[in-house]
Amino acid sequence: MSVFISVVVAAYNEEAVIEQFYERTARVLESISPDYEILVVNDGSRDSTAAKVRALHQKDARVKLVDLSRNFGKEIAMSAGLDFASGEVVVVTDADLQDPPELITEMLAKWREGYDTVYATRTLREGETALKKLTAGLFYRIMNQFSRTQIPEDTGDFRLMSRRTVQALRLLREENRFMKGVFTWVGFNQVGIPYERAPRAAGETKWNYWRLLNFAIEGITSFSYVPLQISTYVGVITAIFAFLYAGFLIIRTLLFGIDVPGYASLMVAILFFSGCQLTFLGIIGEYLGRMFEEIKRRPLYLVQEVLGLEPNSPQVLLRPKP
Ligand code: UDP
Ligand code: MG
Repeated sequence: MSVFISVVVAAYNEEAVIEQFYERTARVLESISPDYEILVVNDGSRDSTAAKVRALHQKDARVKLVDLSRNFGKEIAMSAGLDFASGEVVVVTDADLQDPPELITEMLAKWREGYDTVYATRTLREGETALKKLTAGLFYRIMNQFSRTQIPEDTGDFRLMSRRTVQALRLLREENRFMKGVFTWVGFNQVGIPYERAPRAAGETKWNYWRLLNFAIEGITSFSYVPLQISTYVGVITAIFAFLYAGFLIIRTLLFGIDVPGYASLMVAILFFSGCQLTFLGIIGEYLGRMFEEIKRRPLYLVQEVLGLEPNSPQVLLRPKP
């Protein structure tokens, strides 16, 4: 039984690897079914990624291009790809061949068994520093403590999804999209298969610690309001102690008169409470900022060119040929 497979890949400055990606992926797909599309979303690359994809499309019309109007970030680029993918199953992967396309065969077998999402779980992170592994582990632990949507550990975006999962994902239009969480939120039958994550085939990673930290904050704040609850609890508890201590001070002053020394306790109290307040204001700010983003209801992305695809969306704004 032949099945139409879409492979969605977000590419940002991937000229060094995109052709290699195509060759290896096409070889795998060919061995499964001749009906496939490789849908590259060019996320505002400043190199020749788009040109290379255009050339690939000339050779093989099953390579398709969604060219975003600027860099929107991987999560949104991936969502754009999911909006255009027409496969019965859709595979999401990275352009750098860190996720071996050979695994698609195994994923598809699981799909045939009746699973809607087959995600790949890393058993090995080659070419990644000990610090990155440590922080990644910590992130999953905190995230799952904080949120009701339990994201599977050591799972990236590499996955195969049924059509209904993709349709469900299309319903989620939030701007702050933490894909790992969104994928899990959708539900249906999910299963993980282990794989060894290879180092990048070529080119450079676009992630650094600052980006990863913000990514972690994004993950937690878009799936949980536990930080807000923590602020409430800490606030209430410290307020109770503060009131008790204030009462004690008032009574002591009434009974024994004014006692001038007390600079240290005063400073400690001021510093402690202003520290708490600033932290909690920051937490509220994180949520407020996200609400601000969402409430504007902007389109998630804009597309300036498509190849091999119908431009049937108001988000596709083509330039007429002169
Ligand atoms: N990517 C993207 N937009 C961005 C950053 C990255 O589309 O703004 C793509 C990138 O081209 C690659 C994937 O996301 O296909 C993963 O990026 P990278 O390999 O740099 O991340 P890492 O594997 O190091 O986490
Ligand atoms: Mg990578």
